[in-house]
Amino acid sequence: MQSTSTPSAAPGRRDLLAGLGLAAAAPLLLGSTARSASPQDPSGRPAPNGGAVLLRGASLVLTMDRAAGSGGPLGALENADVLMRSGAVAAVGPSLPRPPGTRVVEAAGKVVMPGFVDTHTHLWQAAIRGGCTDRDLFGWFAGCTHPQRGRLTPEAVHSLVRLAALDAVQSGVTTLVDWVDIFAFDLVESYLRALAGTGVRFTYAMYPPRPDGVLVAKVKKELVDPVPLGSFQVATHAARSVQDLNRAHWELARDLGVMLNSHVLERPEQRADDPVGVLADIGALGPRLLINHAVHLTDAEIARLAEHDVRAAHCPLSNMRLASGIMRLSECARRGVKVGLGLDGGTNDSSDFYALMKTAVGLQRVRATDAGVFPQVADVLRMATLGGAEALGIADRVGSLTPGKRADVVVVDPAALNFAPRFDWVGQLVFNGRPENVDAVFVDGRALKLDGRLVGIDTDRVVRDAEAAAARLRRS
Ligand SMILES: [Zn+2]
Repeated sequence: MQSTSTPSAAPGRRDLLAGLGLAAAAPLLLGSTARSASPQDPSGRPAPNGGAVLLRGASLVLTMDRAAGSGGPLGALENADVLMRSGAVAAVGPSLPRPPGTRVVEAAGKVVMPGFVDTHTHLWQAAIRGGCTDRDLFGWFAGCTHPQRGRLTPEAVHSLVRLAALDAVQSGVTTLVDWVDIFAFDLVESYLRALAGTGVRFTYAMYPPRPDGVLVAKVKKELVDPVPLGSFQVATHAARSVQDLNRAHWELARDLGVMLNSHVLERPEQRADDPVGVLADIGALGPRLLINHAVHLTDAEIARLAEHDVRAAHCPLSNMRLASGIMRLSECARRGVKVGLGLDGGTNDSSDFYALMKTAVGLQRVRATDAGVFPQVADVLRMATLGGAEALGIADRVGSLTPGKRADVVVVDPAALNFAPRFDWVGQLVFNGRPENVDAVFVDGRALKLDGRLVGIDTDRVVRDAEAAAARLRRS
């Protein structure tokens, strides 16, 4: 299922499904099938009981569901179990009965919580990790992003996206939104084949350089809709100079019934583009609009975004790396803007959601010189999970360990040099946590990581393939 063969430019539907990994990866993707929870079973035998898994005896479960446990935003329970069945959370509580055929994963001494929701990334930019480190956003575009993007081949896209997506999964990311300005059909097909093959829940936000409704609809219908864990958005970059294109993108998103996803005010110079004014003028302000960065908002713009229930992705690691500025996050929260966290692809140079949370807290404290400013550790854990799901309009399905929601679950092992001893695990998750503390990751009830290792993945080969792809890009 990790074939790197060159996809045809216009594959037939049967080839396409095979290319997306749906044949070989069907167990990985189709969470409700009998085989769905047994990628770890090398025999390929169907798992009994809908692939049910019982996480037993977790020392702490952070459900993010206010109705659970002791209440509060984290919905915390001590010494509790989590039962997953048919890809969904079936029950959370102490000493749950074990239905026949249920696989038990012992979680004593561990923390169980919902997976991270990455509301903004660009996975292909793994090609430029560590690049242009002395440049701001515009220098980084000119020196790293644009030259590398122009050299991409289907093989390179597949290897790089697969590497970055698996890095996200191993860090505890279970949902990600990828803003992609790559549009040749064979590159898009390769991109989506790589994403689908990892088993992560994803949204492909496609930026069409022209208002090409036929191509966009084709990508959605043929490449995204067949993937059970895939969804679609139309991407744009709001600015007065391209207002007609922005309007066409918004109309396309509306026609397809999906969100519009735009970068907004990442740099102070982009004030001249008046992106919020443009998005207002084209009628896009509303809960179907996701804006990224939104660093340099005025009070009036924050009020306007809140009034229209516009959603935002906050990318503090990227903003720091590119000297973009510090988002007015506490003001946005005070107004009630729904904000999730985003790693933002190549500019964060890793998929470390713990570093992202820590930075989201730290930057606001630096700005306010006030340790009580939003977000506190509970706030940022919520932003990283349920808050991200709310920003994407998918909180009815993911973001908390609420029975009935899809089972996107992370198990963290605090028994590590960087994490122990226990004092306040909620604080330690944010300030001590690292990707290597993530012991297990489930997406749609399927184990993608167990016992600290990605399931069924030859990581050495993934790295070798990405190295080879990067070397070819450097030579081209
Ligand atoms: Zn971005």
